[in-house]
Amino acid sequence: MTLPVIENHSLKAHNTLAVEASARYFVEISQLDQIPEAVDLAQRQALPLLLLGQGSNIVFESDYPGLVLHMGLKGIEITEQGDSAELEVAAGENWHDLVMACVARGLGGIENLALIPGTVGAAPIQNIGAYGVELGTVLVSVTGWHRGERCWRTLTQKQCLLAYRDSVFKHDLKDQFIITSVRLRLQRNSIPRIDYQPLNAWFSDRGIERPSLQQVVEAVIAIRRSKLPDPEELPNAGSFFKNPIVTAKQQAALMAVYPDLVSYPLADGQFKLAAAWLIDRAGWKGRGDNGVAMHALQALVLVNQQAVSGRKILAFAERVREDVLQKFGVKLEIEPAIY
Ligand code: FAD
Ligand code: NAP
Repeated sequence: MTLPVIENHSLKAHNTLAVEASARYFVEISQLDQIPEAVDLAQRQALPLLLLGQGSNIVFESDYPGLVLHMGLKGIEITEQGDSAELEVAAGENWHDLVMACVARGLGGIENLALIPGTVGAAPIQNIGAYGVELGTVLVSVTGWHRGERCWRTLTQKQCLLAYRDSVFKHDLKDQFIITSVRLRLQRNSIPRIDYQPLNAWFSDRGIERPSLQQVVEAVIAIRRSKLPDPEELPNAGSFFKNPIVTAKQQAALMAVYPDLVSYPLADGQFKLAAAWLIDRAGWKGRGDNGVAMHALQALVLVNQQAVSGRKILAFAERVREDVLQKFGVKLEIEPAIY
């Protein structure tokens, strides 16, 4: 088979920060057997290889010097048994469309994850999460091509080592495992999770105690649209920094100085700090420089207002990070992958 390789392909439309960068080689993956072939090609020519979904969690620091595989595998298989359903979903499916299709079919479990951009295949990479739910609550397994072992492998949920915005795919298997499908278990007649404050407030304001899946999805979409910029209108990659995890001692010390610090206790005794609060309090909310800024409605979202380069974006992020470190002694970690 001949791979449809394109040379010097622009990645601007393939990253939600709209950074102008190009891939030396680019292949649209539409069939499973193209993957081992593309991996072999990269290896023979000693090219680095990048698996790209919708580019909603990526910063291109410069042109990509190797082979970019754009995940285009499609297909959803659903097996229902009693009240539960297992779905095998191809990696190139759109995550939000999947959520909407499941809600329409009465299958619950991922409705809180509506409107998260990106592909299904990327969802396990950072164990996508929002409004009190993470992918891990419904993930059964992940199938893909293991580059090191040169074979197809299925990893159980446990083997994915999912954690807060984290997984094995960001560590031991970083850039080593090409996810081709994801298996989820959803439920009919599930009880929606609406304990997350803004969702809870939404329903109590409207006097709704037991919302339907459709009502939850509509609430999540409305809340998200009210504060998160649409990348089509204002390029961004969602949260630019992770919420930092600190010890109880550090949290108490900060709380003594800043009684309005926003923090949440974790099961292991540590605390998660709201990075948006730190950035806001350091004076960066709505503040920008040369076409890049922290968003005025959600300080955690970095927006690329004037199509500036990845290098400029990262330099600006470094200033924000440095300032937060100076002011609060807390190190922010960048969430998107940098290439
Ligand atoms: P990409 O950005 O293309 O890739 C991200 C990383 O995953 C890269 O390292 C890439 O190599 C790797 N990767 C992608 N696909 C595969 C694959 N098939 N196999 C192996 N590796 C792969 N995230 C949340 O968790 N919660 C949110 O609420 C949320 N909201 C967002 C809102 C906005 C407006 C934006 C822009 C982003 C948001 N994100 C959120 C981040 C992002 O949507 C998710 O991380 C998403 O899963 C990324 O999908 P993608 O296809 O765009 O991945
Ligand atoms: P928010 O509701 O303003 O909350 C701010 C932060 O506080 C969030 O990061 C959230 O952590 C944390 N938080 C709030 N209530 C919590 C609780 N009861 N227990 C533990 N932590 C709590 O956040 P937002 O910016 O509008 O985003 C809403 C949701 O969408 C959040 O879950 C957020 O993670 C998600 N989101 C993620 C991205 C991304 O790119 N990663 C982008 C946009 C939105 P968590 O982040 O752990 O939920």
